[in-house]
Amino acid sequence: LVSRKKKPEDTIVEVNGVRIGDGSQSFIVGPCAVESYEQVAAVAEQAKKQGIKILRGGAYKPRTSPYDFQGLGLEGLKILRRVGDEYGLAIISEIVNPADIEKALDYVDIIQIGARNMQNFELLKAAGAVRKPVLLKRGLAATIDEFINAAEYIISQGNDQIILCERGIRTYERATRNTLDISAVPILKQETHLPVFVDVTHSTGRRDLLIPTAKAALAIGADGVMAEVHPDPAVALSDSAQQMDFDQFDNFMTELKHLVKVN
Ligand code: PEP
Ligand code: MN
Repeated sequence: LVSRKKKPEDTIVEVNGVRIGDGSQSFIVGPCAVESYEQVAAVAEQAKKQGIKILRGGAYKPRTSPYDFQGLGLEGLKILRRVGDEYGLAIISEIVNPADIEKALDYVDIIQIGARNMQNFELLKAAGAVRKPVLLKRGLAATIDEFINAAEYIISQGNDQIILCERGIRTYERATRNTLDISAVPILKQETHLPVFVDVTHSTGRRDLLIPTAKAALAIGADGVMAEVHPDPAVALSDSAQQMDFDQFDNFMTELKHLVKVN
């Protein structure tokens, strides 16, 4: 059902006035993790200033180590919703448990399924059973075919509001946290009718590569770019090495704004 052969027209996911997949390009920004109301609100203000309409933030954090910050959970979703309402921003946040999907509908405008859960088939089915857009990240070492099949799990339950997100895959290369598979973007656009985003923060794991990789994503035809922004990355509870501070975010937007296609 996600195949372009089945449906030649592009699927458009409309969120907060942004028509993702209509040929325009947009940004999703926000902190890696929700840490406090003040932290999220500060980022929301910067996002709004840049004309961005969708705010991200992790409430349930799938961390490699069980001893690292695990996120604020439901409290984090509540903070996101409050900030989203106050600033007129749509909210995207990762849900990790199928049992939390229904509850999340009250707080998020887009359900994120993270790389570590790309083949959590019960989670995919639960996200497919609701009527809310889903941003599906490519698995840590997933092939494009496995990625497309994961999206198929969602659409098979009736939900076609899916955004695919390339976020880098594991290779032997250690210069970057993951290897951004930029050619996945046109392949996914050819093979499926779904919009495709590129997460430059988690694919590179390097602040100095965010602008060039975002440029590449826009040039190759991604429907948008996701990036992490934090008021003070040095003290961030997660992903401290790759989140942008507000000056860096300003510079990022200055470098990219004129490259964005509008429809
Ligand atoms: C995230 O976007 O917060 C995240 C954890 O990313 P990924 O699932 O791509 O690692
Ligand atoms: Mn992160």
